[in-house]
Amino acid sequence: MIRTHYSTQITPEMNGGSVTVCGWAHEIRDLGGITFLVVRDREGLIQVTLFKKTIDKNVLDIVRNLSRESVVAVTGNVKKEAKAPNGYEIVPAAVAVLGKAESPLPMDTTGKVDADLDTRLDARFMDMRRPGTQAIFRIRHLIQKSVREFLGGEGFIEITTPKVVATATEGGTALFPITYFEREAFLNQSPQLFKQLMMSGGLDRVFEIGPIFRAEEHDTRKHLNEATSIDIEASFLDNEDVMVILENLVKYVYSSVAENGERYLKTLGVEPKIPKTPFARVTYDKAISIARDNGEKIEWGDDLTTESEHSIGETVGEHYFIVDWPTKIKPFYVMPYENKPEICRAFDMMHPRMELSSGAQRVHSYELLHSRITEQGLNADGFEFYLKAFRYGMPPHAGWGLGAERLLMTMLGVENIREVVLFPRDRKRLSP
Ligand code: ATP
Ligand code: MG
Ligand code: MG
Ligand code: MG
Repeated sequence: MIRTHYSTQITPEMNGGSVTVCGWAHEIRDLGGITFLVVRDREGLIQVTLFKKTIDKNVLDIVRNLSRESVVAVTGNVKKEAKAPNGYEIVPAAVAVLGKAESPLPMDTTGKVDADLDTRLDARFMDMRRPGTQAIFRIRHLIQKSVREFLGGEGFIEITTPKVVATATEGGTALFPITYFEREAFLNQSPQLFKQLMMSGGLDRVFEIGPIFRAEEHDTRKHLNEATSIDIEASFLDNEDVMVILENLVKYVYSSVAENGERYLKTLGVEPKIPKTPFARVTYDKAISIARDNGEKIEWGDDLTTESEHSIGETVGEHYFIVDWPTKIKPFYVMPYENKPEICRAFDMMHPRMELSSGAQRVHSYELLHSRITEQGLNADGFEFYLKAFRYGMPPHAGWGLGAERLLMTMLGVENIREVVLFPRDRKRLSP
């Protein structure tokens, strides 16, 4: 191990002690009698000070010839210094160049020059060196960690389902076909069918954080072709039960980021408001009438347009659920109400800006499921592997899928979903 301390682990009280810090040459300022090298590591900046009078000439030469953004290891003594940014500086005994950076750099990392998103994504490794970018992904990490904590605490078991599949989850057109030896296969658009199989399997409560693939036709700021879904499925629970789990999860994640991600929120200049539970339950009928009152052209039975989502969101003003959807615009596995089958036990969970999650109580009767598949014009033969599980003891169950990127982007007020993915996939972008 080369590094002894991160920048944030050194304190002025360590005065006189020897340390080795590692990082990138953030800035080199040569004032003649004194030379400053600012080293940036994952956690922050460290000032390294070279006094011409006392410094080893070789060390001074290395620093003077250093190119910006090269990787260095600096070994030296901590010196308490009130004028240095962290109250200390390092007086080096040795500076090793571990990875030289060419110049010019593919993009500016200081934040002084505004780079457009395409340039940043083309040089994402470099973009990650900017504090604002890193802050987003440090928060993304905190979110995934807190989701696991919360769901683990609720008795959910983490599973991993296949991404290469033979059948479309919903038959839809939004699929990427791939070649799988001699056969056609697809990239999975959702873990839906597999997580339901595990209800028959008796795992009771499962979750997955994994990729979903969708051949989205349109280029929008909230759709990716490869996204991350947080999915749960739970037996012996109904639609309302899993809605309560969902709203509590969102609140937990926000609180957890506020508590553990303060530094990153400060870097980004945002202070997300922790949502209050329970979220409002707005019926689909009511949502449509709000949109229409706001002047949107939308009919009962239509899925919500982006404009309607915005208009309803503005009226409601905070996270909310839309419940009791028309059965015909929801997938076949959603349970219709027994006494009013034209609407179903489905819900969407919304942030005022966009949909974050869809879920429902599921059909668990084999006969009903079979006829729902056929009614939707799908071939039941292709679903045999799935339907089979409903013939040998399937408990009632419910679940949802929550878009990880959407949760993150709405929490941080990020405009474009591509900002919150390391290497976003969209119609034009397949590399890096
Ligand atoms: P939308 O109406 O916004 O297109 P959807 O209803 O098609 O979303 P679902 O099939 O309900 O999406 O998927 C569950 C969740 O997964 C969505 O609520 C959303 O948060 C997320 N999601 C779906 N498609 C995408 C995508 N292309 N890019 C990013 N996130 C997505
Ligand atoms: Mg969609
Ligand atoms: Mg939708
Ligand atoms: Mg949806």
